[in-house]
Amino acid sequence: MNEPSSSLLAFLARDRSFMRRAACEGEASDLFFPTGQIGRGSYGPGKAVCATCPVSSDCLSYALEGESESAASWPGLWGGLTPTERRSLRRALAGTSESARPMARERTGAAVGSLDA
Ligand code: SF4
Repeated sequence: MNEPSSSLLAFLARDRSFMRRAACEGEASDLFFPTGQIGRGSYGPGKAVCATCPVSSDCLSYALEGESESAASWPGLWGGLTPTERRSLRRALAGTSESARPMARERTGAAVGSLDA
């Protein structure tokens, strides 16, 4: 069995205390992880909750880091963004210079503080 990478171990040790202040605490999980046929509007109710969340930047940053570690998209809403929107954000961040990143974040609708693509 392969040893876990140091970056994976660092991710697993990451502080997740922000989740205790999440606006989704106590909400139905299917608002954020819709089941069945996912179409336009499936994420609308969850996004409305995320829009009020005081830790949405931490949530998004956590998901982007985790998706990068696992080299796979996570299901559901994280930081108010769908899997497709997070993929677009990662591409935008990877393809832009440091000075253009704020604009990329704005275009993708991400309210994030500091992200490492
Ligand atoms: S941004 Fe993340 S932590 Fe906040 S409500 Fe949405 S899914 Fe929950």
